[in-house]
Amino acid sequence: MMALKIPGALYEQLRQHGEAAYPHECCGVLVGEFDDAGGKIVKGAVRCGNTRTDSPANRYRISPSELVRIQRDALLAGHAIVGFYHSHPDHPADWSGTDLSEAHWTGCSYVITSVENGRAVLTNSFFLRGQEEDKRFDVEAIELIAQNQVPCKAELHKKGGVLACGE
Ligand SMILES: [Zn+2]
Repeated sequence: MMALKIPGALYEQLRQHGEAAYPHECCGVLVGEFDDAGGKIVKGAVRCGNTRTDSPANRYRISPSELVRIQRDALLAGHAIVGFYHSHPDHPADWSGTDLSEAHWTGCSYVITSVENGRAVLTNSFFLRGQEEDKRFDVEAIELIAQNQVPCKAELHKKGGVLACGE
């Protein structure tokens, strides 16, 4: 079965990011590798600033320049962008119509954590399938793995709150 495999420590870090950003939405990028079965192994979670200052409590946006830098750093480390994460302050961990319309990375995972009263509650992952015209989200299992199962080829660039792999 396809799954998003993520080290427990990184999983906790992205949930804590949601708590820290509350009552605003947090957002970030997951870098790692696609495995042979079509699943993904997360090796780093990069915190991003939410640039939706007009509506940060229920929208998020990662700046294009930040995304380009993250992608470049991931490639240098032998990784790829495998997903994105954000939080839903006082809303369920389900995707919204806006989440789907603003998702463009087919094959990537979109991880959503519900944060109620400042505490991270549920975290779900949704796999973006199809093309832009008929794209959809499918529920995807999150599999917590031990850090030592994901030896990394290189340290990720430590800038802007990047959580390097191998920690
Ligand atoms: Zn959302």
